[in-house]
Amino acid sequence: MNCPKCGKEMEHGFVRSESFIGGVKWMAERSSKSLGLEGLAKPDALGFCFMEGLRCRECRTIVIQY
Ligand SMILES: [Zn+2]
Repeated sequence: MNCPKCGKEMEHGFVRSESFIGGVKWMAERSSKSLGLEGLAKPDALGFCFMEGLRCRECRTIVIQY
């Protein structure tokens, strides 16, 4: 896939976060509150969340599938 922003070829990989409380969540605005938010990726047994995606090094854009 080519970058939707600049058109250059993107590289496949994973975004990893470390969360023991519910995983990666989506929010419309920055918030420290966690309850009631939409979960995108659950943590594994070690507390890591992995989200598969594509990265453009050129314009620093990441496209993530969830
Ligand atoms: Zn790009």
